[in-house]
Amino acid sequence: MPSLEHLIFKAKEMTKHGILETAKHNLARTAEKLGVDSNMLNKIEAPKEKIELRLSPVLSDGKVVNIEAYIVRHNDVLGPSKGGIRMAPDVTMDDIVGLSMEMTWKTSLIGVPFGGGKSGIKFDATSLSDIDKEIIIRSFARNARRHFGPELYVPAPDMGTNEADMGHVRDCVSYSDGISITRGCFVTGKPVILGGIPGRKSATGKGVVYTVIAACERLGIDIKGMSVVLQGFGNVGSEAAKEIASLGAKVIAISDISGGLFNEEGIDIEELLSYVAQNGSISGYSKAKQIAKEEIFNIACDCLIPAASGSQITMKNVNNIKTKIIAEAANAPTTPDADKVLTDNGVFVIPDILCNAGGVFVSYLEYVQETQHEQITEAQVSARLSERMKVSFDKVYEFSLANKTSMREAAMQIALKRVVEGINARGLLP
Ligand code: NAD
Repeated sequence: MPSLEHLIFKAKEMTKHGILETAKHNLARTAEKLGVDSNMLNKIEAPKEKIELRLSPVLSDGKVVNIEAYIVRHNDVLGPSKGGIRMAPDVTMDDIVGLSMEMTWKTSLIGVPFGGGKSGIKFDATSLSDIDKEIIIRSFARNARRHFGPELYVPAPDMGTNEADMGHVRDCVSYSDGISITRGCFVTGKPVILGGIPGRKSATGKGVVYTVIAACERLGIDIKGMSVVLQGFGNVGSEAAKEIASLGAKVIAISDISGGLFNEEGIDIEELLSYVAQNGSISGYSKAKQIAKEEIFNIACDCLIPAASGSQITMKNVNNIKTKIIAEAANAPTTPDADKVLTDNGVFVIPDILCNAGGVFVSYLEYVQETQHEQITEAQVSARLSERMKVSFDKVYEFSLANKTSMREAAMQIALKRVVEGINARGLLP
């Protein structure tokens, strides 16, 4: 059995810094700080279940495509595993393991009765027609059906998937069962008309901004007039942009997969959203200077929001970053070595497991609504989301002050302690 020192060494010597390496590094470091013994660490580190699926749907042109898909249930000590379905051409099983670990800490930290899980579909969603996307999502749902359920694993949207896709997942389940509804909550982030909850689509982005508001209060920064730079303009990025702009902040630069935009005076977010709805990406928007997407981290600002994929802030670009706050809307956007540089440079980092936990919190409300046949209004969702994000931020902030740690270490320690407590409360056997 590998010792704790061995695991920490393994995590330290990793040079690739993918999502899994970052997740393992954060766990090993936190376990060391908390004095978690190697038996417990081994129990927590390895995922409870890893499933690899082979999908072979027939697309609308009559051709069969072979697609790899992954489902990982990292942990279910505190409740059914929860985590989104990522659809991307380069997603790997290792990424899904890392992301599912992150979900274990996130659900624990934000205090919802879930564990960590995640799914991946290795396919490029960007060029797919709606009908082909639906075919692939339905193929995934059919093949994965026996691996998810209200007491087991409950998926949701993530990069490359959206509300409409969750509607198809839900329909697949009720259709197979020959009934009009599902027996409990099988998936969150569904369209409201199918039992989704109002406000889920904007929850992650709004939650990100609620943590930025809390950080600004503590750091004495006025959000009005604050300059913001954003990487990624999908679900999370665009919702965060809308929310922060509505508070009077100036979003001066935005990138997506197609390129970047810069306007010192601030970019009109509603106008850019209409442009993207018509043109598919931010590329070519005329009221800002076009920049390369890699330049996004060179722009000085008060608040930087990475809202794209993992491992974006690395040793290659970290020293170009000039900002006061980094709000990690994306999962694992910062590699551990770059994270250390940010800390040394005095950047206040709101870690992903806190910053983007608004989505899973509102997913929990959707789960409750469906389980109890309740109806929760958008105003109730909004009030509960803002309250939970503030309380969680304050808990992490106070812990970091009391223990002289970074926000990331504080968040990880609070989260891991709860998981360890859950395991001990259940008992170690069998
Ligand atoms: P999305 O697919 O809706 O959007 C992703 C955006 O990132 C797109 O605008 C895409 O063009 C852009 N992008 C991808 N690679 C890029 C690059 N190299 N440079 C610049 N832009 C790039 O995904 P999303 O749901 O908004 O998720 C974004 C991040 O937030 C992911 O890391 C995801 O895991 C995380 N997250 C999402 C949710 C949620 O509720 N959707 C919840 C928690 C965390």
